[in-house]
Parts: sequence; C-alpha cells; structure tokens
Amino acid sequence: MTATLSIDALHALVAGALTRHGASQAQADAVARTVTAAERDGAASHGIFRVPGYVASLVSGKVTGDAVPTLTYPAPAVVSVDAGLGFAPLALETGIPALVQVARETGVAALTIRNCFHFAALWPEVEAVAAEGLVGLAATAATPMVAPAGARVPFFGTNPLAFAFPRPNGPPLVFDQAAAAMARGEIMLAAEAGEQVPEQVGIDAEGQPSTDPAAILGGAQLPFGGYKGSSIALMVELLAGAVAGDLFSPEAGRADNRDGGPPRGGEFLLALDIARFGHGEGWRARSEAFLDALSALDGVRLPGARRHANRATALAQGVSPDPNRLKTLRTLAGAD
Ligand code: NDP
Repeated sequence: MTATLSIDALHALVAGALTRHGASQAQADAVARTVTAAERDGAASHGIFRVPGYVASLVSGKVTGDAVPTLTYPAPAVVSVDAGLGFAPLALETGIPALVQVARETGVAALTIRNCFHFAALWPEVEAVAAEGLVGLAATAATPMVAPAGARVPFFGTNPLAFAFPRPNGPPLVFDQAAAAMARGEIMLAAEAGEQVPEQVGIDAEGQPSTDPAAILGGAQLPFGGYKGSSIALMVELLAGAVAGDLFSPEAGRADNRDGGPPRGGEFLLALDIARFGHGEGWRARSEAFLDALSALDGVRLPGARRHANRATALAQGVSPDPNRLKTLRTLAGAD
C-alpha cells in the first residue's frame, strides 16, 4: 500500500539511513535535502531510488562519510570547494553562498567542486543561485554511459547541464537536462518496471538500436539530438573535468569500484549578476514580458513547471514514494 509522508519525515529516514552507515550528520542532511527535494518535485530518478547507492558507497569505503568540505578562492572571481572525497551536496552548500557573494561583487563568478562523488540532479544548485537573483549554470560529468556521435561504445557520461534565470514574482525559470536522450536513472526505472524505452535512447552491446532498457544498460546510451547533444556532452566533460579539475568520465569509470554508488566527479557552476552588466534594471520587465509571451504560445510550457506543480502538491499533502523503495529505505534506516 502507498504511504504518504511529510517532507520532514522522509528527510529523517534518508538522513537516518546514511548516518546509520557511517555518514556524518552534516553529510547525511545535505544528501537528504537533495533526495527529498527530488521526491517532492516528482523527480523519482533522483529521489529515494538513489539511497541504496549512497549507502553502498559508504559501506564500501569509496566515499568519506565524515568529509568536511574546504573553501578556497584561487582567483578574485573563482571559488573552489575541495569536497574531501565526500558527497557533492554538502560541498555545494558550502560553496554556493560564497559564489553568490563573489558574483555580486564581480558580476561573474565560478564555483568548482572537486574531489567529490556526484549522484544528484543539478536543479537544486542553480535554483539556489537564481533564488538570490542571479543567473546560474551548472554541469557535471559521470562515468562512460553515452556513445559519442558516430561511436558505438560508451565514452561520455550522461552529463547534465542546468540553467536557472531569476524571476521577480515566483520561482526562477530552471531547466536541467542530461546530454543523453534519457537519464540513466529513468532507463533503470523502466527496466525495473519491465517497460520499453523510446527509440533513439540507446544501443545494445552489439551497437544495434534497442528499446530494451536492460540491453541499453549493457550497451550504450545515445546523446539527445545526435551530434548536437554529443557536443554538449563534450563541453560538460571539459567544464567538469578540465575547468573544475576533477575526473573526466572515462577516468571516473576506471577509478570506480562498481559498488553501485555515485562516481567520482566534480561540478562547474557559473553565476551572473545582471545588475552588474551596466544596462540597468530594465532586463527584469523585458524578460518577464518575453517569458509571458513564450508561455502564451499554444502548446508551450516553461521548463520547471511540472516540478513546481508537483512541489506545491507535495508541500500541501506530503509525498507518496514508491512502496518498494520506501520499504528498502526504512530497512536501511533501521526504521522497521
Ligand atoms: P528530463 O528530460 O525529464 O527534463 C529535462 C528538462 O526539460 C527539465 O527541466 C524539464 O522540466 C524540461 N521539460 C520536460 N518536458 C518539457 C516540455 N514539454 N516543455 C518544456 N520543458 C520541458 O530530464 P533528464 O532525463 O534529461 O534529466 C533528469 C535529471 O537527471 C536531471 O535533474 C539531471 O540533473 C539528472 N542527472 C544527473 C546526473 C549526475 O551525474 N549527477 C547525470 C545525468 C542526469 P520539468 O522538470 O518541469 O519537467
């Protein structure tokens, strides 16, 4: 039977599962905030579905459960967080206030997160930046899962890119999308449910097109939009691997212990304070008029609208996670 929980009750279960397996309270709470935000917004592929992986990486010792991120300023507009081989969310929470502060001073600022393990959706961090009135852009690599255009073997990660733009009278505009045609978590969920996935999502181990999620998981995913998505995945590799200074996906794949948890991977974030760009405040009203005109087009909805609708419902009524995944979570948290 489907149970309904408050966001706080779900947070306590997720954090409890992590502390019970060696995470510090600070690491566990930061991960739990991203996991519960994903459940709240109806992003099941990054909700409690991920908790067994987080736990596995603590049990295997791959992730340092009590890591304390450290913040440095390598250049006037660059903020860097060394995550100490902990999970990414606490490192992000450490770095974002500094990123926002520097961007307000300089107009443009970058945050790099290094030496961390990344398994989460990216919209929470760009949404946090835009909630401060700034434009946010974020990118992270993963392990080889996506065949570059023309190739038949995995090389790029699924490599998400997220963008957020502040709006005066409501939540920021946010899109957050994998460079793969479909996020791997969604393919895993389809495999779990015994469903097929659309064409162009992936190829099997022989390089043949397939709609069988299990065959694709054993073969390679495809980028969205052919060579265009492939170039976005390439850009993300260079932003996360070279600019942020953590591993490229092929390196992360070789380094991974296959415990089912998050791979090593840094993150690149950019923040822009439009108020510092020298053309006044008119951009706010003009952007609103532009977004209103876009929304008014027949058939159009703004990215993020689905998540915000889910969020409003969840905040009012609580969340009802998949019963099997909730059972697993309760077991991991010792709550049964
Ligand atoms: P989706 O394809 O589900 O959605 C991508 C974006 O498009 C969302 O912002 C979504 O908004 C928007 N969108 C969807 N449909 C429409 C529409 N009809 N009109 C306008 N906008 C639309 O996401 P992905 O499967 O590509 O990625 C899922 C998640 O996986 C992301 O959060 C990503 O960060 C994460 N991820 C994380 C990785 C990691 O290594 N850490 C690796 C790969 C992915 P809305 O949410 O409102 O539907």
